[in-house]
Amino acid sequence: MKFHKRITSTSDSIALKLAILAKEKENARRKLVVTAKQLAATAKEKESIRRKLVVTAQELKRLHGTLEKKVLQRTKDLEQIRSKNEAILTSIGDGLVVVDKEGKISYINKSFEEMLGWKTQEIVGKSMVEVVPREDLNGIGVSFKERILTQVLEGQKFVADLTNPFYYVRKDKSRFPASSIVAPVVLNKKIVGAVEVFRDITKEKEIDKAKTEFVSLASHQLRTPLSTVNWYSEMLLTGDVGEVTPEQKKYLEEIYSGNQRMVDLVNTLLDVSRIEMGTFMVEPKPTDIVKLARSVIDEQKLQIDEKKIKFSRSFEDSIPLMRADPKLLRMVIQNLLSNAIKYTPEGGKIGVSISLDNEKNVSLKMSDTGYGIPKNQQDKIFTKLFRADNVIGKDTEGTGLGLYIAKSIVEQAGGKLWFESVENSGTTFYATLPLGEIKKKRGIKAPS
Ligand code: ADP
Repeated sequence: MKFHKRITSTSDSIALKLAILAKEKENARRKLVVTAKQLAATAKEKESIRRKLVVTAQELKRLHGTLEKKVLQRTKDLEQIRSKNEAILTSIGDGLVVVDKEGKISYINKSFEEMLGWKTQEIVGKSMVEVVPREDLNGIGVSFKERILTQVLEGQKFVADLTNPFYYVRKDKSRFPASSIVAPVVLNKKIVGAVEVFRDITKEKEIDKAKTEFVSLASHQLRTPLSTVNWYSEMLLTGDVGEVTPEQKKYLEEIYSGNQRMVDLVNTLLDVSRIEMGTFMVEPKPTDIVKLARSVIDEQKLQIDEKKIKFSRSFEDSIPLMRADPKLLRMVIQNLLSNAIKYTPEGGKIGVSISLDNEKNVSLKMSDTGYGIPKNQQDKIFTKLFRADNVIGKDTEGTGLGLYIAKSIVEQAGGKLWFESVENSGTTFYATLPLGEIKKKRGIKAPS
């Protein structure tokens, strides 16, 4: 009995162990199933990543292709623009030079090569100011500092418009008259270089000379008949050749004053052509400027009174005699005073003063309370034939030559002529003239 009981308990424990083993096996199998599933999922993910990578690679390849095409197209476009610009720059008749911020040449066009005799390979990288000298109209070299290109690169002038002609010196040292425009090349608000465009103005100068010579010749020819008309109308007016009726006298007076205006105009034109041809001679002698001014005022007293102008004068005592051409100095004072009268309405004021500046210069001041000069036209006032808009409409006659001549005379004498003006309020002209000697027998030139 006892034996039977022992056998039963042994088989029970075996059965139990088997059951445990079976369970463990089952657990292990389940774990294996889970792991297998996980492995399958990872493999799937991997596959999907691989697929994505393939797609990305394909996309990248496609993009690369497009980009390459675009770059090629862009390069082609740029090349086209470059050749187009090159063709334009080559074909323009004006000389063109591009410099870097040190003033070294980085580009010249064909016209530059032709005009100045330099080849691109000889000149690129060299300083424009050093390689191509510039001279003023007197043949005096323009210094490095005074060169417009230098000034533009230093930012002193934004755009330099040179209407004043000068000479450019070629490689073979010959020269030609030119005019140029210089503009800075600005990048990110900084001047990184400059571009200069210049023109050979030999032909214009020749035409100008021919025009001046024609005006001079025509004026000379007109003088004789004008003198004849003057002479005979004066004779008729004075009754030297018989009595004239009051009506005839009226017409004769018209003829006489009209002729006088023509004589004045012809004389002015002759003065201008002399200035331009450099044949306006100066004969300086000791001159009393105050006496001269008094006589000009007396001469124009009638017009001052007719317009009821309040006239004042202030002449400093003891102004010494100055060396000047009295005829020319008279012309300057005459012009300034007649302008003041002409451009001041009735009842206005005019003042003339002459004083001594630091023992070396005489100062002349002519002020009026007239129409003034519009601000936007003030820089043109000394230009030949220029008349401001505000006086053209008014009943004033003029040629626009007086101030051009006056400025030429004053500058030749080593002086300065300028003005201040406010429209509808008045104008003051200032002239300073050196007391000293005026260089003898030198032709007057056009004003600067
Ligand atoms: P014109 O008087 O014969 O026209 P000018 O050369 O003497 O020629 O003067 C040029 C221009 O300058 C005049 O037409 C006028 O517009 C202006 N101007 C000169 N003087 C005066 C002044 N005192 N007041 C106002 N404008 C003046």
